[in-house]
Amino acid sequence: MKIHYLGTGAAEGIPAIFCNCSYCKSVRLRGGRAVRSRAQVIIDGDLSIDFSPDCFLHGTMPGVDLSAIATLIVTHSHCDHFYAHDFVLRGYKYAREMTAPALHILGNDEVLAVYAESVRREMGDPVREHIALTGLSAFVPASSGDWTIHPLMARHTSKDPFVYLIEGRGKRILHLTDTGLLPEEDYDYLRALGGAPLDLVTFDCTFLYDETPHSARHMGIAENVAVEARLKDLSLIGAHTQRVITHFSHNSAPTEEKLERAAREHGFLAAYDGMILEI
Ligand SMILES: [Zn+2]
Ligand SMILES: [Zn+2]
Ligand SMILES: [Zn+2]
Repeated sequence: MKIHYLGTGAAEGIPAIFCNCSYCKSVRLRGGRAVRSRAQVIIDGDLSIDFSPDCFLHGTMPGVDLSAIATLIVTHSHCDHFYAHDFVLRGYKYAREMTAPALHILGNDEVLAVYAESVRREMGDPVREHIALTGLSAFVPASSGDWTIHPLMARHTSKDPFVYLIEGRGKRILHLTDTGLLPEEDYDYLRALGGAPLDLVTFDCTFLYDETPHSARHMGIAENVAVEARLKDLSLIGAHTQRVITHFSHNSAPTEEKLERAAREHGFLAAYDGMILEI
């Protein structure tokens, strides 16, 4: 199964959109993999986790067909994860010969509210009629195409954000952005569900090695290691489980040196924009 990481920066991206800190300035000079756009991961070509303001850019990358996304699961309504205005362009004269004309968007109530607000002015009926929406509740699995989607609670905003366990085509994937340490209810749910070890865990790593006091709404390496230990206790991490870190902030300056340290010390693979992982 192909996992395509397309956007691996935090909300402001790297270089941050309006920032002139020394790290952002260095990234503007260097370019390449140090540039990180906002969140999107495409799984097996047809399932997208999140849809950010940088999806136009992602659609210019080799091997990406945004029209092939038939299922979109949205973690939460923050604009770096859900930029719904672009859906007004999904069909009619704006998009021809789409690979998957029908799109199914799944998210919490706030996500559905943002969708309604964003498309209200400009979306025409020929586009609207090909997009279906499903509101999710925590710990109530939903299905879309070949996928079973388990919404778990995130520790992030007061608006019921989710992280997801995704099962389908013989694989199990745990996607943990945006969140701090997971609530106990998540571990209870995973314990009750049981099943084979995960094939992939993707961690929110906004703070990386930042040791200064930080919010509990995101994670860094220390929190990633703590969550990994809890998942190991549940036998959900095995020898084959790939562990990826993403959602990096300019404030924690994700240099190659720090990312190599995360790989060396913990076996964490740092995502970059355009990275393809086979699981
Ligand atoms: Zn975010
Ligand atoms: Zn900066
Ligand atoms: Zn967020």
